[in-house]
Amino acid sequence: MYLDLEDYKRPATVEQCIDLLGGKGSSAIAGGTYLNVRDHERVARLVDLQALPLRGIERVGDAVKVGALVTLSELVDAAGELGPGLGALVEAARGERNLCTRNRSTVGGRLGRRRGDARVATALAALDAKLELLAADGTRTHVGVTEYLTAAAAPHLVLGVSLRADTRASRYASFAPTVMESPVADAALAIAADGTWRLASGGHGPHGRGVVVLAKASALAGDAHADDWRARFDAAALDELPSFADDRGSAEYRRDLSVTLAARLVAAASNGATPSGGAR
Ligand SMILES: Cc1cc2nc3c(=O)[nH]c(=O)nc-3n(C[C@H](O)[C@H](O)[C@H](O)COP(=O)(O)OP(=O)(O)OC[C@H]3O[C@@H](n4cnc5c(N)ncnc54)[C@H](O)[C@@H]3O)c2cc1C
Repeated sequence: MYLDLEDYKRPATVEQCIDLLGGKGSSAIAGGTYLNVRDHERVARLVDLQALPLRGIERVGDAVKVGALVTLSELVDAAGELGPGLGALVEAARGERNLCTRNRSTVGGRLGRRRGDARVATALAALDAKLELLAADGTRTHVGVTEYLTAAAAPHLVLGVSLRADTRASRYASFAPTVMESPVADAALAIAADGTWRLASGGHGPHGRGVVVLAKASALAGDAHADDWRARFDAAALDELPSFADDRGSAEYRRDLSVTLAARLVAAASNGATPSGGAR
């Protein structure tokens, strides 16, 4: 129940929208699959994003632009258009198996919660996507996913994301106990046009906020056929994933699982090689 709700607006332009979001007690709503369930009790002014021109997936030069109001289902439907290069984003969207949620929840809403277990955040980090943000003073900036998730809270509106159209290949993998739950661990891998591998894993750190780009593990990815590769890969990846305590005491398990998912993605992408070993 929106017990404190006083006002509802549905602006048609992003400029009107950002003005409205500056008001005390205001909150943006996109698909509502999170806000209608949690964190709405103290919302006094609801700013509905649905009339904004932030829909659609389009090719602009060497970039693919995905609007903030694109739903996870629309990403899945665009699999052919996005191709294997941006496959990780499609697989991350498909990972949301609850169809009601998939049909309503938007890319902007996934990112707007600023959590690392949003699935698409991990895929976007591996793909080195740039988020287009609009600040309260009208300034537009482009930042990476990890930068956005770790920045101090700001009244930014996510307008969309920009991806490299020439990405060679990308994959996403996750594990969640049930279709109703966020992933316990996930990982994504992208291979850029110049052959550079980039791995990311989400849900790390207190409150699951972090998405980590596994730079050292990525540097070892091209070496996956070597006998001692898995041991070196595990050590490098674990070193990059933060160790922390959490309420459920499962943080270490989730670190291990993330490394295994990342190793499997690398092995699968390395000429069909099979990964050696599972979670430690
Ligand atoms: C069954 C189920 C499973 C779920 N699984 C997951 C999961 O695995 N991972 C996960 O992260 N969430 C999960 N959720 C929560 C929710 O579905 C997602 O966070 C969802 O993607 C939010 O998108 P939305 O468009 O519905 O956002 P809303 O609920 O409308 O908004 C969510 C938050 O984002 C802000 N916001 C919305 N759009 C923007 C924008 N363009 N710019 C800036 N801020 C914005 C809103 O102000 C609000 O704070 C799940 C929910 C359900 C019901």
